[in-house]
Amino acid sequence: MPRQYPLEKVRDIGIIAHIDAGKTTTSERVLFYTGVSHKIGEVHEGDTVMDWMEQERERGITITSAATTCFWIPTSAKGDKAHEHRINLIDTPGHIDFTVEVKRSLRVLDGAVVVFDGVAGVEPQSETNWHYADEYQVPRICFINKLDRMGASFDFSFNSILERLTPNAVAMQIPIGSESAFEGVIDLLNMKAIRFEGEHGEKIIEGEIPADLLETAKTKRHELIEKIVEKDDALMAEYLEGREPSIDALKKVLRKETIANRLVPVFCGSALQNKGVQLVLDAVIDYLPSPLDMPPTKGVNPETGNEEERHPKDDEPFAGLAFKIAADPFVGSLTYFRIYSGVIKRGSYILNSTKNNQERIGRMVRMHANHREEVEELYAGDLGAIVGLKNTTTGDSLTNPEHPIILEKITFPEPVISVRIEPKTKADQEKMGIALHRLSEEDPTFRVAGDEETGETIISGMGELHLEIIVDRMKREFNVEANVGRPQVAYKETIKGKAEAEGKYIRQSGGRGQYGHVWINVEPLERGTGFEFVDAIKGGVIPQEFIPAVEKGIREALDRGILAGYPLIDLKVELFDGSYHEVDSSEFAFKIAGSMALQEACTKAKLVLLEPIMKVQVIVPPDFLGDVTGDLSSKRGKIKAMGERGTIRVIDANVPLAEMFGYSTALRSMTQGRGSFNMEFSHYEEVPQNVAQTIIEGRKK
Ligand code: GDP
Repeated sequence: MPRQYPLEKVRDIGIIAHIDAGKTTTSERVLFYTGVSHKIGEVHEGDTVMDWMEQERERGITITSAATTCFWIPTSAKGDKAHEHRINLIDTPGHIDFTVEVKRSLRVLDGAVVVFDGVAGVEPQSETNWHYADEYQVPRICFINKLDRMGASFDFSFNSILERLTPNAVAMQIPIGSESAFEGVIDLLNMKAIRFEGEHGEKIIEGEIPADLLETAKTKRHELIEKIVEKDDALMAEYLEGREPSIDALKKVLRKETIANRLVPVFCGSALQNKGVQLVLDAVIDYLPSPLDMPPTKGVNPETGNEEERHPKDDEPFAGLAFKIAADPFVGSLTYFRIYSGVIKRGSYILNSTKNNQERIGRMVRMHANHREEVEELYAGDLGAIVGLKNTTTGDSLTNPEHPIILEKITFPEPVISVRIEPKTKADQEKMGIALHRLSEEDPTFRVAGDEETGETIISGMGELHLEIIVDRMKREFNVEANVGRPQVAYKETIKGKAEAEGKYIRQSGGRGQYGHVWINVEPLERGTGFEFVDAIKGGVIPQEFIPAVEKGIREALDRGILAGYPLIDLKVELFDGSYHEVDSSEFAFKIAGSMALQEACTKAKLVLLEPIMKVQVIVPPDFLGDVTGDLSSKRGKIKAMGERGTIRVIDANVPLAEMFGYSTALRSMTQGRGSFNMEFSHYEEVPQNVAQTIIEGRKK
């Protein structure tokens, strides 16, 4: 079967939001409206549109799928099938504990709708997600939601986007009425009032702009037009001569500028009250890129080491990226992937070029809101899932075996929090091991480690909620119940200086001896870069076959830690000299020599402890401002900014995670229950000497 939708009619997008801004509600509306439009004319299948809607209402629409396919005919095309587009909606989680999921979805989507709460405007997490989107250069449109809520303000929210996220935001709409009087929106480009009628707001009614809003609308439109024409010389010339460019010409430039990340169109409405979501879908088609608008994907050919490109074309060799592994109750494991180039067929072999192993594609599916579709083929720009792949994990490249390429890697933050965990019954020990292993394969920010001394299991992740969810999934999906200890900070170790050291493991006591001998250099790397191993051995003073063993010994020593048993990060180790013995040298001996050299070199290079620092935002009534800031300072917090939001005060601070345990209870009692806060990981920082001493001594006990 040939491809059904030409690439220019495909959009691979995600919805990004601060928790509670309304991402779920908006996604549900998207799937609802797009489901309706797709089903029109297909009533002969026996399930009429209404039946289907009823069922979905009861069950709740499936929006937990990592990628859901839906279809949309722009409102202006009035139901003409020829204008139907395919939208692949990629799920992005709302909670910051799932940074990894936000990042990996950003890696595979081409554009995003960013949803804001119309009362709060930009919130701290919106900033974090926005910066991630900047990092991946994802084109965006914004949706200011919840304009029906008490305290909602389009102007406030729009200004917070301008001030805190980007000066390139342009208002495409203004609301008609606000809070309980919120009725609809004014489309500034077309100068029309738009209202949404019918049970689910599915009827879009265009009308004249109410007289009391006409002046504001004219001013806002003027601003919008100026921001567009200033990006294009031809339009600018026309405009300066006093002629207004056509709507089509304006939209064309706006599309180009949005895709280039130089303009960000802003829309508004209320998802809950079914107002405005269809116009956001129109905007997805109008302004967000199709795979054809994106630059080619780059990667490295593992055979030649050369950089190569893949274009979004069906006749190029197949290349894709696995971005989520999910356990599915019906079919087992699903590997969600995006296809960057070529075509993939059921029954064919693919190469996992990251792991260098081949697998056969048994079954492939495409997820829809209300069903899954078995497919024979998937094409460039598509998103789908492969059933039952064995050795593929998140971030792996899947390619045509004849044309291997490793696409750009996704980098993930280090976990910041750990807990000890043990199964409720001894019999579950093995089952727990399997469950944790499987879960860590799905999620690169979740780690499992054993404590060699006590035999206990330690799990680490991005926050308390993250670990709670893991424990809960273990119970629900694997039937293992566990006792969980108190959360602990996941400290790290690193070095501050350079040093060189020798590692010698030589035993000669009758029979065959042991001989491993290395010289290494260590030096610190920038925060967040991890570990780098450099093989600088010349003239075969250590034979090639033993070098991986040296690296392994070093890595194991890094994981064990030196100062207080926490893993060492952010350093480079260079192996530059050593010697070997014809008979006595072995991998084992070189591994030990590597580990000995590392311990000595790092001890000489001045070891320090690092701790996770959290970005904390506290919201309090003015009366409590002094108490709360004083308390944050006593927690080694650094106040970054203090602001006002209406009648309340907002404090932004950086505080060590170690000081934040139990903060919600403390804040509640400090503010008579009127303060609230949220926090997320920011970076690792050196622990002050006196605090470090206590931690190190505590670990030795
Ligand atoms: P998410 O956490 O971003 O997925 O947010 P949800 O979609 O779950 O919404 C959070 C809460 O806000 C829920 O109680 C929703 O019913 C409510 N909500 C979502 N959209 C709107 C809206 O447009 N207006 C109002 N008043 N409430 C909304």
